[in-house]
Amino acid sequence: MSADTQAQTLGFQTEVKQLLHLMIHSLYSNKEIFLRELISNASDAADKLRFESLAKPELLEDGAPLRIRVTFDKDARTVTLDDNGIGMSREDVITHLGTIAKSGTADFMKNLTGDQKKDSHLIGQFGVGFYSAFIVADQVDVYTRRAGLPAAEGVHWSSKGEGEFQVATIDKPERGTRIVLHLKADEAEFADGWRLRNVIKKYSDHIALPIELEKEQAPAAEGEEAPAEQEWETVNRASALWTRPRTEIKDEEYQEFYKHIGHDYENPLAWSHNKVEGKLEYNSLLYVPARAPFDLYHREAPKGLKLYVQRVFIMDQAESFLPLYLRFIKGVVDSNDLSLNVSREILQKDPIIDSMKGALTKRVLDMLEKLAQNEPEQYKGFWKNFGQVLKEGPAEDFANKEKIAGLLRFTSTHEDSAEQTVGLKAYLERAKEGQDKIYYLTGESYAQVKNSPHLEVFRKKGIEVLLLTDRIDEWLMSYLTDFDGKGFVDVARGDLDLGKLDSDEDKKAQEEVAKSKEGLVERLKGALTDTVSEVRVSHRLTDSPAILAIGEQDLGLQMRQILEASGQKVPDSKPIFEFNPAHPLIEKLDGEPDEDRFKDLAHILFDQAALAAGDSLKDPADYVRRLNKLLVELSV
Ligand code: ADP
Repeated sequence: MSADTQAQTLGFQTEVKQLLHLMIHSLYSNKEIFLRELISNASDAADKLRFESLAKPELLEDGAPLRIRVTFDKDARTVTLDDNGIGMSREDVITHLGTIAKSGTADFMKNLTGDQKKDSHLIGQFGVGFYSAFIVADQVDVYTRRAGLPAAEGVHWSSKGEGEFQVATIDKPERGTRIVLHLKADEAEFADGWRLRNVIKKYSDHIALPIELEKEQAPAAEGEEAPAEQEWETVNRASALWTRPRTEIKDEEYQEFYKHIGHDYENPLAWSHNKVEGKLEYNSLLYVPARAPFDLYHREAPKGLKLYVQRVFIMDQAESFLPLYLRFIKGVVDSNDLSLNVSREILQKDPIIDSMKGALTKRVLDMLEKLAQNEPEQYKGFWKNFGQVLKEGPAEDFANKEKIAGLLRFTSTHEDSAEQTVGLKAYLERAKEGQDKIYYLTGESYAQVKNSPHLEVFRKKGIEVLLLTDRIDEWLMSYLTDFDGKGFVDVARGDLDLGKLDSDEDKKAQEEVAKSKEGLVERLKGALTDTVSEVRVSHRLTDSPAILAIGEQDLGLQMRQILEASGQKVPDSKPIFEFNPAHPLIEKLDGEPDEDRFKDLAHILFDQAALAAGDSLKDPADYVRRLNKLLVELSV
């Protein structure tokens, strides 16, 4: 260690160590992707320099064209990548190549089980990046200098990937980053021109930055001098993929481009590439990832599109182009109308952005519709990963409510599975003759709602009911009033009216029963006066004795629980008590002369109905006391 080079040895953040370990063990069968990752970073570095030089042209220093050069040395067993992009300062190096700044990383790493097979799929949620160098190298040296800093402020970073790294200040006359990979003994194959060229063509052809390999020199003829100058050859196509016509782009190119911009390791599920001309002019290329990133629900997680203006990279994570409920979409938008010095603040206010946002949102929804229609299996995967996020849509995006509703998937009484696979369109196609409503029931869990007494009459009549058990479902349904002209009906709410699904005879019979039970209704009202808002004869039940319905305007159980959990005061509301006149217990109750016992039985029925609805009892001890009293009386 010497004072003038300020050499320092630092430890990697714990998460980096874990990531390195995970990566090396997950990616052994696909090692060559390290090159894609490093080239992707170099390309980003060139984009950043181009952008910063708009305001500060002096950053371009020598003015030489931006490029990345890949060289190798078979004897020394090294591969070197040299870019003239933005480079890094000492501080940049220590944070970017020593820590992982993404929020939630530590939580994510806690999911590691230590079982390599199980853990290896997690890497897909994380992305690999710079550290992938250690898949093939047992030592990595980075020499870098940030554009604009003096030559004496270059930095040398070096690590064997085993827990620590060294940084030292060096002289680096050329700006940018040179990465030297000291290949592991059994990875020597990468120190080879042919191999490198193939890997670059395979994964990085779409990179807009020229990737240059040294031209192989023909051996100098006798008496001739070998040329002193190195000659370079660009091996990739080096044009922005999204500017090329769709018909010329292969699926593999779209996929590799996604991995570059999405920092993802897996192929996307779908994409949509469009060129818009007319009043507004822009290109967009939008992707649906196959897997949710680990930080999908972190508030600060990166989201938004990569913004270019006339091919010049402007910013990552431009959030103004898509609504929040589509935050999982990755992609690029390249506008001809925006100014090169557009900022995040301007983006938020610009009316051009609003109309682009509207159009891009529609493109995404169309892309998802197509996926659902043409690739139902893939759509299932999409729904598992992103369904919860899409459910935020109807509240956020009123204009597209119907379209979003069509993309939603639920469990239902039609399927005997907890998997959410039923769409509203399919539901309506199966609807009964005369059914002009979409019936649903919300609750805690699939196991609980699928046996709910609220479903009894629907079972009897063969009417399908959607079962909604995600935490946000009740909230979602407060924004969804209808689909395809059919209103939604919560089967646990209000006075169930099956409309045309009940025949005239049914209705007449119901009225007659109700009349004959008026006395019982009054007695129950008296017994349950403090606990219920109303008592009535039910026509929802076939097997259970009683049920609790929620008042038309009252908060449901889920909403109440959410509000209570967030510390808000929830208005007290009393449920409606409905009883099944044909049930033997009710008949018994009706004939019960002893007022005390009538009261006990009524309270027990009430509490049981609350339990069946998934609610907790206000006074469980009271329930137990009354029940035991009855049991004792029974057994004597
Ligand atoms: P990611 O690219 O997903 O952010 P990486 O681990 O690949 O993660 O890289 C971490 C950071 O290191 C980058 O975001 C960038 O700031 C910096 N970096 C990596 N390679 C280069 C490079 N060639 N030139 C400049 N900065 C780089």
